[in-house]
Amino acid sequence: MNTTIAACSTAPGAGAIGIVRMSGPEAIFAADFFFHPKGSARFADLKPRTVYYGEFTDKNGQILDLCTAVFFKAPNSYTGEDIVEIDCHGSQALIAEILTCLFEYGVKPALPGEFTKRAFLNGKIDLASAEAVIDLITAQNAAAVKNAASQLKGSLGDKLKRVRQELLNLVSHFYAVVDFPDEGVDPFLISEATKTLISSTKQIEQLLRTYNRGRFLKEGIPVVILGKPNVGKSSLLNALCGEDKAIVTPYAGTTRDIVEAKLRTTGSLLSLMDTAGIRESGEEIEKIGITRSKQAVEKAQFAIAVFDGSRPLDENDREVIDLCRQISSIAVVNKSDLIKKLDLSQLEKTFEKIVEVSAKTGDGLSLLEEALSEKTGLNQDFSDSLITNIRQAEALRGALDRLTEASNSIETGITPDAVVMDIEGALFHLGEITGETVKEEIISNIFSRFCVGK
Ligand code: GDP
Repeated sequence: MNTTIAACSTAPGAGAIGIVRMSGPEAIFAADFFFHPKGSARFADLKPRTVYYGEFTDKNGQILDLCTAVFFKAPNSYTGEDIVEIDCHGSQALIAEILTCLFEYGVKPALPGEFTKRAFLNGKIDLASAEAVIDLITAQNAAAVKNAASQLKGSLGDKLKRVRQELLNLVSHFYAVVDFPDEGVDPFLISEATKTLISSTKQIEQLLRTYNRGRFLKEGIPVVILGKPNVGKSSLLNALCGEDKAIVTPYAGTTRDIVEAKLRTTGSLLSLMDTAGIRESGEEIEKIGITRSKQAVEKAQFAIAVFDGSRPLDENDREVIDLCRQISSIAVVNKSDLIKKLDLSQLEKTFEKIVEVSAKTGDGLSLLEEALSEKTGLNQDFSDSLITNIRQAEALRGALDRLTEASNSIETGITPDAVVMDIEGALFHLGEITGETVKEEIISNIFSRFCVGK
């Protein structure tokens, strides 16, 4: 990492401020060449971590901006290298000019995620924290922000390091006994190994249990919208999400596949699935759609059952009610702008919460959003991290499998060296999460998901 890299770290488009960031051994010298602090001092001779106001000029002395700059000396910076941040006016043309100056000087354009990758490779953050950076940048609601921030601070990495340390102590003890038999090392006791295995297994299982909630935090809680055709499911989805995601027509049976849309409520992110209407149907395509609706219920965590308030309940509505008994749900009685013909008391037996709305006029939608927030909110203490990505979950499962094998080996009386091999396997999987044992191609894959400038 002898190169110095630069990129714009702020989002594209005109803005109040644009930030150009550089990292590497030449960063301060490059900045010194183009940025002239007010007064006579040279930028490179000034104090780190202090913001200076001055002129940014090109190599011919043509002024490009009046702006501020700050530098951080290695190793006390985000990347662990010398870093300079130039806070200029947020014009894309200006930022392009500044970057051109730096590239002409010899600084290289940064690749996606390269600043954070350098932070990881220089030991400033572990891989779980690096992944939290991208989670934080892409967080879609407050709960996801809090979880990512806690993970960025190291809550997951710290927890895993503790588990790894316990297992490492055990493995080192085993090798000390084998390698130095005459040095009076305490004997390697299987009972001691069992105790550590139970404790580590418990902690990993606890973390794995958070995966579903963590996934929902990031991808949205899967919520299925059910109801017979023409009750207004697609209209409701569109009204809630504020965009025409689903096809709406006056003919029954239009939504034959599943339409998905994200809805951000106060407490969480919902992934809404609008399904084919549920009714007995002779038509082949619609039949497939109905089967999919039933499958969607299996995948969902929550259901919104929609009924047409301008008509009495019928057999198809009752089928919807039956389906809702398998899943936590809320009843939405739509078309409140029309004369009410539906007897709400027939829904009260199954649904704890009934909300009357009109997808057409928007009446009652805020009450529905409130009810959804209340029912699906991920109330959570964010001092403990949730596992939010499949890579981490799979590594935990791998570790758990190896620890289970180690415990089974102990039970069947297999020799300690076989047990230790399994523990070493578990250590490898745990290290994949924090980055100690991860392969280069996985590291590259993780950082390629970042934006340039991060
Ligand atoms: P789906 O088959 O359940 O998805 O129903 P749609 O959303 O396609 O709506 C069916 C019909 O009901 C369309 O003609 C909509 O315009 C109409 N509709 C939907 N919501 C309302 C509403 O709140 N009030 C009234 N009056 N009509 C509605």
